[in-house]
Amino acid sequence: MTTTDRVAGKVAIITGGASGIGEGTAELLAHEGAAVAVVDVNAEGGRDVARRINSHGGQAIFIKADVSKSAGVRRMVERTVKEFGRLDILLNNAITLNLATATKMDEADWDKTLAVGLKSVFLGAKYGIPAMRKTKDGGSIINTSSVHAIVSFAQHTAYDAAKAGVLGITRTLAIDYGPDIRVNSILPGAILTPLWKGVSKADRQAFADSVPAKRLGGPEDIASAVLFLASDEASYITGTTLAVDGGMLAGRM
Ligand code: NAD
Repeated sequence: MTTTDRVAGKVAIITGGASGIGEGTAELLAHEGAAVAVVDVNAEGGRDVARRINSHGGQAIFIKADVSKSAGVRRMVERTVKEFGRLDILLNNAITLNLATATKMDEADWDKTLAVGLKSVFLGAKYGIPAMRKTKDGGSIINTSSVHAIVSFAQHTAYDAAKAGVLGITRTLAIDYGPDIRVNSILPGAILTPLWKGVSKADRQAFADSVPAKRLGGPEDIASAVLFLASDEASYITGTTLAVDGGMLAGRM
């Protein structure tokens, strides 16, 4: 793959960067010239991703931080700016998945899913936007929502609420912080990552067969969309959502 340097000289934070979509996006942004802070609670996986990027000639650090906590998000921004001197791109992407119907769900699981999946977007804005505004170049925040924000699936009680909430705060942030800060969300469909470890081969095939693209997506499909939204090519795009779902929503709405 040849580089297009579409984010050359920029600095990106990728939360949930140790695995799946975050990992694939960290690799692509680094390949396209960005210095990348890989943020995760999974230190082993996160360090591996940063090491791999550096060994391929990219620039990456790993920061262990819990994005559901104010202290973690503040530290992730401070360390990134200390290391790379600025902040241009923030991908809010971390998630924890607790499946249960409302009557069976523990309150603690609800709180955790909403904190990792939604509060983290608020905290990312609170600490990330002032850092982005220290340069005259502004910044791009991209939030990984989900097709679950639009169509719900059984037992995704807290997850679907968090993902729908992400669309709301995406719009508000775009209004409050434009024109220099652009804020968008991505709606991934069925993307084969470790999040799918509990899904059988037959169910995976059924998902693939059910969408117009006739395949599951991979982290690289989402990474390309993040790269576009982060780049200057998307300079007139803010406050909106981009579905990267193989056409899943087209058949369900
Ligand atoms: P994944 O499980 O591979 O990655 C999630 C990462 O988030 C993990 O590395 C995990 O350690 C990290 N994480 C969890 N809690 C954290 C915390 N408190 N602080 C920091 N990091 C934390 O999952 P994925 O499939 O790559 O999912 C990435 C994003 O894409 C999520 O927001 C998910 O909801 C969304 N998404 C995924 C799919 C899919 O089919 N895989 C579909 C729609 C949306």
